[in-house]
Amino acid sequence: MEQKESDVSPVPVEKISLREKAFFIEKNFFMERALEMILMFDQKGNIFYGNMAAGKKLEYEDKLCGRNISDIFPNTFKTSEDGFETDFAFEDKVENMVAYRKNNTCFPVEAKVIRNEEVPNTYLCVANDILEKEFLSREIEQVRQEAQQAAKVKSEFVANVTHELRTPVNGILGNVRELLSEEVDSHIEKGLRIIERCCGDMNKIINNILDFSKLEAGKFTLELRRFHFRNMLDYVKAQHINKITEKGLGFFMTVSPQVPEYIVGDELRIVQILNNLLSNALKFTALGKITVEIFRTAQINDKVELFFIVSDTGIGIDQADKEKLFQSFSQVDASISRKYGGTGLGLNICKQLVELMGGRVEVESEKNRGSNFSFSAWVGVAEEDMALLQEEDKSALTPAFSVGFGDGTKDVDPIREYGTRENQENLKRTLSKLILCVEMENWEKAEMFMETVKQLTEGAPREVSRLVLRLKMAIQKENYDKVTAEYNGLIEMI
Ligand code: ADP
Repeated sequence: MEQKESDVSPVPVEKISLREKAFFIEKNFFMERALEMILMFDQKGNIFYGNMAAGKKLEYEDKLCGRNISDIFPNTFKTSEDGFETDFAFEDKVENMVAYRKNNTCFPVEAKVIRNEEVPNTYLCVANDILEKEFLSREIEQVRQEAQQAAKVKSEFVANVTHELRTPVNGILGNVRELLSEEVDSHIEKGLRIIERCCGDMNKIINNILDFSKLEAGKFTLELRRFHFRNMLDYVKAQHINKITEKGLGFFMTVSPQVPEYIVGDELRIVQILNNLLSNALKFTALGKITVEIFRTAQINDKVELFFIVSDTGIGIDQADKEKLFQSFSQVDASISRKYGGTGLGLNICKQLVELMGGRVEVESEKNRGSNFSFSAWVGVAEEDMALLQEEDKSALTPAFSVGFGDGTKDVDPIREYGTRENQENLKRTLSKLILCVEMENWEKAEMFMETVKQLTEGAPREVSRLVLRLKMAIQKENYDKVTAEYNGLIEMI
């Protein structure tokens, strides 16, 4: 409905004191520098303030005062002797209007016009140039597309170059191996062995860069197939065992009986993650041992979650440096790369691969006390192996504790069935023995009780299993404070 503003509140314009207007404007220093156009006008439509943006965009510079609002928005405001008329609803709402410049050219704006509460009978108009806004968002979109394109070109370039590098490196490697298969002088053989090792290292770097660029470009897909899990672990072990023994380190690998014989997953990539964690453990450990443990921590239908822990007793990592570990091209400090080599890509690739497998990588470490890298991964169990898995589950539950109820359906021992009264009592008893051993610093015995705790919590909810694993790691590291913290957490959960 058409509204005649002057009819609504007939206050003559001269009654609005100049001091009042000046005070208001002065107080609003930030308005002057705002990016939006800001205009103030009185009941007759006379503009008494226009900020810098308004002066510039409407091309009046500092001559806006004294013009009428109908000069700027002639389609929205009409003026007469008595005041201005408008259909405009003075609400806190954005409307589209057309603004006219001094030279009568126009441009669309979105604007709000409200009654100015601070100076009675005056109005405040805030307007934004839509064309400029659209232009800016088009420009942003263009920059975004250009950046995307540049990233694509970069990863294609990296992929091509690394691919091209592979051919000559493999050419050198092939020839070196052929020469090595013949009778050669011992000093020549020594040289050839060095070239062979260098080519192997170069191939590793090339493969890492290729994987990294594929993962970054989102072009990486897992190749799922059924494979024998423990054979895969033997293969991993075989690749490291010589170097481990050369360094005089101990090596232990344990696989929980709950882990299926066969799984469906990307074998190559699981090997790659384990190899990377083991190479690091080996690289950064001079004394002590390396252990690999694998558990089944959850199952949903034909999917199981496997939990891997690779621990070492090496140089460890500072709390502050842990954040950096999984970033690309990141090594803890420059001296590490000088002393131990590497590109700082391995853990980042591991993290991305593990995430593709629906899992997470975590690290627990203390400077000079070793590190535990753990990761989870969801893998499948083929239909033909499901029955076998259920059989294995049963037999893993029965042996030592079996009391046998005789009818074949109730042959699960209540002590071993997580959550039963017998199980919980036993668990609490074992845990109190364990903590006693820890208090007496008999770590070996504590590890023994830990084994029983692990058996008693097979099939426990995930949060409990996780706490059990953390307790185990803390015991392995002989860290009293951590053990008591994890112990208290576990006691509260069961
Ligand atoms: P790199 O190829 O350089 O080893 P990674 O991403 O595999 O790259 O490792 C990054 C950095 O993390 C290493 O340079 C090292 O500083 C630290 N790091 C990784 N594993 C261990 C470990 N087991 N013990 C101590 N530091 C480690």
